[in-house]
Amino acid sequence: MKTKLISAIGTLCLLASCNSATQVEEPEGIHSESLKGGATVTWIRDTPASRPSSTKLFPKATPELIESLGLNDGVPSSMGAFVLRKGDDVALFDAGMGSPDSKLIDGLTFLGLAPEDVDYVFLTHLHGDHIGGMMKDGAAVFCNAEVYLSQPEYDGWLEMEGRNAQALSLYSIYADQIKTFQFGDKLPMGIEAVDAPGHTPGHAAYKRNELIVVGDIMHAVALQMADFSISATYDGDPELSAKTREEIVNMAKEQKLLMAGMHFPEPAFIDYRK
Ligand SMILES: [Zn+2]
Repeated sequence: MKTKLISAIGTLCLLASCNSATQVEEPEGIHSESLKGGATVTWIRDTPASRPSSTKLFPKATPELIESLGLNDGVPSSMGAFVLRKGDDVALFDAGMGSPDSKLIDGLTFLGLAPEDVDYVFLTHLHGDHIGGMMKDGAAVFCNAEVYLSQPEYDGWLEMEGRNAQALSLYSIYADQIKTFQFGDKLPMGIEAVDAPGHTPGHAAYKRNELIVVGDIMHAVALQMADFSISATYDGDPELSAKTREEIVNMAKEQKLLMAGMHFPEPAFIDYRK
């Protein structure tokens, strides 16, 4: 009996270590991290190759700072999405650009997932590089998923006349699937919505145990970790996004979190767990 139990534990450990072993075999553009309690988070790069961010997108960054950090040729960054798996539950955080060369669906396929296997989509905000992949030919890509976004984000885009066609398409195509939340609400899979304002009206981060998915709090990590006050031209409210950036990074450090960022340099995680 005891031997059987030990061998069962051995098998479990073997399965668990398979998880980290698969990291070695993951192709470029895909990277998984194991989380407590048997969950796994996987970054999927949405672009076929990595692309640095131009320093021109960061007006407050001085030439001296750029030079001192060795960033004259651009800042290492990426564009992607994250998948959280726990048991049979599958959550997707943002959906990439949905351009003809987008790699999100290939990444899901690599994980053994079809779009219809995604149970939840948690949107950080509604820029095109985060929601373009939600739709294809006017139809929902994630037809079985509940789609979460913050109420301030939902409302904010309604007011952006002339710049909100894609957001309005999302609202219409996913009308029966969208669930808006207020910050502090409890969301599926034990996820907590964290207010992360500044980039867009209702930009959200999502926290679950030691994982925090931070969306677009940083587009050029090397520059913005050197000086939190440097915002991107993409940031709707540069001062508010700077404040949010500092607060969330400090929270991640204090609480020893794994930060996952849609534009972080590959593999798109900053790990404060140890
Ligand atoms: Zn973005």
